Amino acid sequence: MNGLFTTLSKFKIVTKKREELVDITSQVQQLISLSSISSGLCVLHCPHTTAALTINEGADPDVANDIVKGLAKLVPRDWPFAHVEGNSDAHLKASMIGPSLTVLIEGGKPVLGTWQRIFFCEFDGPRSREALYKLVDCS
Ligand code: ZN
Repeated sequence: MNGLFTTLSKFKIVTKKREELVDITSQVQQLISLSSISSGLCVLHCPHTTAALTINEGADPDVANDIVKGLAKLVPRDWPFAHVEGNSDAHLKASMIGPSLTVLIEGGKPVLGTWQRIFFCEFDGPRSREALYKLVDCS
C-alpha cells in the first residue's frame, strides 16, 4: 500500500463563538485510526474563507485564547475595510493563519510535540463548518 491515497473525506466542526480555536486533535486521531494507516501523511484543508487551521499549544487554554486576542489586536474588526459583508477582519486572519496542514502519521497516530494540538480557527462564527482531509499510506 506504499503511497496509496485515500479518497477525499470531510468531518464537521460546529463552532460556538465568533472567534475561537477549536481543538480537533481527537477527530484527526479518530480518522487516522479508522484508516488503519500506521505510517503516512494526513493532509487537512479548511474550505472556508473566514476560518483556518493551525497547530499550537493545547496544554494551557490561555494560549488559544491569546491567539484570538492577539489577532483581534492586529486586525481590528472596525478598521474601514471595503468588503460589504463586514467580516474582512475574519478574511485577513484566515489568510494569516492559512488554510491547510500536513500532519505526519507514525504508529497510527498524528506526530505532534508534547504540547501541540491541532486547531480549527474560527474567525466568523458561530457556524457549522467542515474540514477536508486526505490520507497517504506510506507503510
Ligand atoms: Zn466576507
